[in-house]
Amino acid sequence: MLILGSHVGFKKDTQLLGSLEEALSYGANTFMFYTGAPQNTKRYKIEDSLTRKALERMKEEKIDYSKVVVHAPYIVNLANDTDLEKFMFAVNFLKEELSRCKELGIKKVILHPGSHVGCGIEAGIKNIAKGLNMILKDSDITVLLETMAGKGSEVGSKLEEIKQIIDLVENKNHIGVCLDTCHLSDAGYDISNFNKFLDALDQLIGIDKIGCVHINDSKNERGSHKDRHENIGFGHIGFDTLIDIIYNQRLEDVPKILETPYVDREFPPYRYEIEMIKEKKFDPELIDKIKGYE
Ligand code: FE
Ligand code: FE
Ligand code: ZN
Repeated sequence: MLILGSHVGFKKDTQLLGSLEEALSYGANTFMFYTGAPQNTKRYKIEDSLTRKALERMKEEKIDYSKVVVHAPYIVNLANDTDLEKFMFAVNFLKEELSRCKELGIKKVILHPGSHVGCGIEAGIKNIAKGLNMILKDSDITVLLETMAGKGSEVGSKLEEIKQIIDLVENKNHIGVCLDTCHLSDAGYDISNFNKFLDALDQLIGIDKIGCVHINDSKNERGSHKDRHENIGFGHIGFDTLIDIIYNQRLEDVPKILETPYVDREFPPYRYEIEMIKEKKFDPELIDKIKGYE
């Protein structure tokens, strides 16, 4: 069965229940959320009563909660330890993030590996692994390292880099990978023959390590290293390739999460994109529909 959803909000007053309601309003059967704003580390106390209500509702709606994922904020950076205080802030924040996730019953957390900001890719890889080993000690939550576009000094735009990090992580059962189609394409990977890409990944890392796939089109052409997401079918990856990836049998049990941009920064596209994906037919009028012109 297709496990498809999008990034949804997580608000102080409604928390997991609010995130779930948003996902259901899009016709999704899974979702991803940040436990607060993606761009900062301000976080609220988890309200267990809201979590319980959300879990009950998920049972009614037959949503498999084990597939729901959290995304760590993207400002924490494990890849550079020049400023040790900053590095330890990132480590401690992520430890707290995992304990918040544990309270919520979440099993998988997505993390951007980080940017080495001048210390070099090799040092960056070692720093990330060092941080992860502190964070994942005795953890029963899995961290999924996201493949990156290679913007600036980002680590993890090559599968080999992700593989090197995983090799250095001690808690092997709780480290995995999150693919992002926009990032893969921007990083230079040809994903138009996705089975061929998966074969290469399987050789290097193992296909069983893939815990989530972010489904995004890209505003830029392959190899651009820009990381600008586009709505499904409106970018350089294209509808057919994305449909191929979404419905690939080898990743059937893996949640697919849309992180496509709001139209005019105002209208969430997810209900429409999910419908279009289920119908497997590209709708060139989609953007107008999202804006409510039809
Ligand atoms: Fe991400
Ligand atoms: Fe992503
Ligand atoms: Zn991105």
